[in-house]
Amino acid sequence: MAVQPPPTDQRTVIENVAIATVDANDTEYARGHVVLLGNTIEAVGDGPAPAWLDNVVRRINGEGHLATPGLVNTHHHFYQWITRGLAQDDILFDWLVALYPTWARIDERLVHAAGQGSAAALLKSGCTTASDHHYVFPKDGGDILGASIEAVQELGLRFTALRGSMDRSKKDGGLPPDHAVEELDDILAASETAVDRYHDSSFGSMLHIALAPCSPFSVSTDLLRQSAELARRKGVRLHTHGSETAEEEAFCKELFGMGPTDYFESVGWLGEDVWMAHCVHMNDSDIAKFAETGTGVAHCPSSNARLAAGIARVPDMLRAGVPVGLGVDGTASNESGELGTELRNALLINRLHGSPAALTGRQALRLGTMGGARVLGRQDEIGSIEVGKLADLALWKIDGVMHSSIADPVAALTFGALPPLSVLFVNGNAVVEKGQLTTVNEDRIARDCARAARELAARPV
Ligand SMILES: [Zn+2]
Repeated sequence: MAVQPPPTDQRTVIENVAIATVDANDTEYARGHVVLLGNTIEAVGDGPAPAWLDNVVRRINGEGHLATPGLVNTHHHFYQWITRGLAQDDILFDWLVALYPTWARIDERLVHAAGQGSAAALLKSGCTTASDHHYVFPKDGGDILGASIEAVQELGLRFTALRGSMDRSKKDGGLPPDHAVEELDDILAASETAVDRYHDSSFGSMLHIALAPCSPFSVSTDLLRQSAELARRKGVRLHTHGSETAEEEAFCKELFGMGPTDYFESVGWLGEDVWMAHCVHMNDSDIAKFAETGTGVAHCPSSNARLAAGIARVPDMLRAGVPVGLGVDGTASNESGELGTELRNALLINRLHGSPAALTGRQALRLGTMGGARVLGRQDEIGSIEVGKLADLALWKIDGVMHSSIADPVAALTFGALPPLSVLFVNGNAVVEKGQLTTVNEDRIARDCARAARELAARPV
């Protein structure tokens, strides 16, 4: 059952709280208030909330807390929750070849379990909106997209389900085994059906669909072209992996005679309606093309570090005006699955470009909130605590032993350990309280995921 929004006349008042709004001016309040009305933000400001408010069903004393917008995850593969801890020391291509045969055995039931594990980890680390790039659809796997949507809706996470795809298998020079890919016409038909059935473009939508061929080395040129045409005809966004590793760049040069960004440009894959994961190996011209066209980037620092892919040039992208958000990436390459910790990882890893000024704590928070909102095309609805936006926000406890001595509340979140999450609101509902999911039993999810992981590992190749 999907979590329903609260009644539209019902108020929640949060007071005595430090607030980082992440609005256009980076407005902050040392001791302010936020008022939620139904599923939207009615007021935010300094000092106590207005005294005249009626129909207040909950008052929260935010003493010792920092309120931020809910975090936005721009890249993930939820199904990988049940294939964590494998191929621990491989680079991307070897890691993919090691895991594809296992992934090719998934089905709707396993995807449902994995989806709940991934969504739980995201919510418990402050994420209120997430995208899930699912691209493995075995022939006998059942309704995999439907299973992942149902899994997420039960937990109350705002969701962009990406109907992914692969059609370039080993026999065509790709990496996936032949039985893990689909035919072009089947992919396009299933993609159109997914949009018609699920995509809700209204304000406050809990479910978007986007189209997401997997990567230049696992899909055909025709699939990229025709997916772009279909997405634009249906008014949905486009996503893929791009410029992740040096090996991918060499692959594109050999196969297409150009690097990944030029290749994407040649097939109509740059634009404001497109975002790509990783973008590690980008030269100045690639970054300029992304900036000119408004193409977005999902920066995934932990996954890039685990696979030794390299460090994306995020400071240069931000200077050029490229929209950049954060991504956990699939948990087979980032076992943590938490988005909150990526704020700190992005901050630290980007300073390895050679300057402590390369990325500030506030820029890291912006990447994880407004940056992600823009990348998903939802900057008018989410990503900041502003009047009229959706009631998606996190209350981080920063007066405990791990944080009480850190001078600046935003630094407590971005430089310190990930603070305990006292309350997480999605669409006006408190879906996390004192670090625990309120919508479902976490122990049940843990048991289901452990069973699903064992079952998948035992399935014959
Ligand atoms: Zn990925």
